Amino acid sequence: TALLTDGVRAEATIDLAALRGNLAALRERTRGPELMAVVKADAYGHGAVSCAREAVAAGARWLGTATPEEALGLRAAGIGAEQARILCWLWTPGGPWAQALRAEIDISVSGQWAMDELLAAVRETGVQGRVHLKADTGLGRNGCQPRDWPALVAAARAAEAEGLIKVAGLWSHFAAADEPGHPSIRLQLDGFAEAVATAERAGLRPEVRHLANSPATLLLPESYYDLVRPGLAMYGLSPVPEVGGPADFGLRPVMALTARLALVKHVPGGHGVSYGHHYTTSGETTLGLVPIGYADGIPRHASGTGPVQVGGKWYTVAGRVAMDQFVIDLGGETAQVGDEVRLFGNGEHGEPTAEDWGRACGTISYEIVTRIGGRVPRRYL
Ligand code: PLP
Repeated sequence: TALLTDGVRAEATIDLAALRGNLAALRERTRGPELMAVVKADAYGHGAVSCAREAVAAGARWLGTATPEEALGLRAAGIGAEQARILCWLWTPGGPWAQALRAEIDISVSGQWAMDELLAAVRETGVQGRVHLKADTGLGRNGCQPRDWPALVAAARAAEAEGLIKVAGLWSHFAAADEPGHPSIRLQLDGFAEAVATAERAGLRPEVRHLANSPATLLLPESYYDLVRPGLAMYGLSPVPEVGGPADFGLRPVMALTARLALVKHVPGGHGVSYGHHYTTSGETTLGLVPIGYADGIPRHASGTGPVQVGGKWYTVAGRVAMDQFVIDLGGETAQVGDEVRLFGNGEHGEPTAEDWGRACGTISYEIVTRIGGRVPRRYL
């Protein structure tokens, strides 16, 4: 069956039925906690608005973004506060606090400077803020250190007493939930329990306490609390490929990337291929030109390693990936201009997966799908 739209050079198809199925599988697996669909970074390359709408239609009452601009974009696209709460968590000084408050976006606060800026915007707009206090329980990235936590909690409690904010959430993020048995997991679970206890002793009564990303959602029920925040798993990829692939968790990859051969030509043996001649034909052969390159998000690290499927057979990128194109050596096989080149998909046609690309490029599937650029049209199935 043909995947590509006629006349299109390359296309990412987004299987929204698979997305719905993945959400249902995650709900079935977790049984109880609310689900926050993480749609930051353009829904890991899948299209934030389309995926957010689909997730909301499938019953997700929360959406998660990194930046406030991403959250505002979802509201601007018509996803209203009555449909979904949106939490964003990556702020810098001078961020669009007032806009976010007016758009009823939940705001993560990791430290006193953010609390101060938020409270100033609350006073300016007259809109009460909905805050999720973020604890650094060991990731060492965003979040409040344990020694500063009681002071941040006290500031939040005081602002609540004044009616300026409501502490809607207490939360944290794992460092190594994708490495079962990693000692940081136990420490972070205990650290979060302690942070929650400290906040509750101070009188905070959050609606949701949340900690679990995809690997924890799949493997660590103890981390569920009131809400889980899966990103990658919702897109049908496994965050723990050494433990199990998507099918082992009832998931199906949502994105497939396909291109069309732009040129097929015969060359003699000993012919260098692509920049730097890192590949040389071993004999007379046929080369196929795949019109997609690193400007489209195909990693240059795929040079010589990235797998593709043409006519049921696998090939690897011959020589370097260029900005807009790469070459495959079709050997003795016949292929024609216009034939489909399957870079990755759900594997059901024997094609490579984003996981295969991650392995071939020394990275993770997260990076493969997220980097597929804006020049590649998305088609929603
Ligand atoms: N929660 C936070 C704070 C995140 O930054 C992310 C993504 O990195 C997620 C949840 C979702 O992570 P994953 O894609 O592993 O589910």
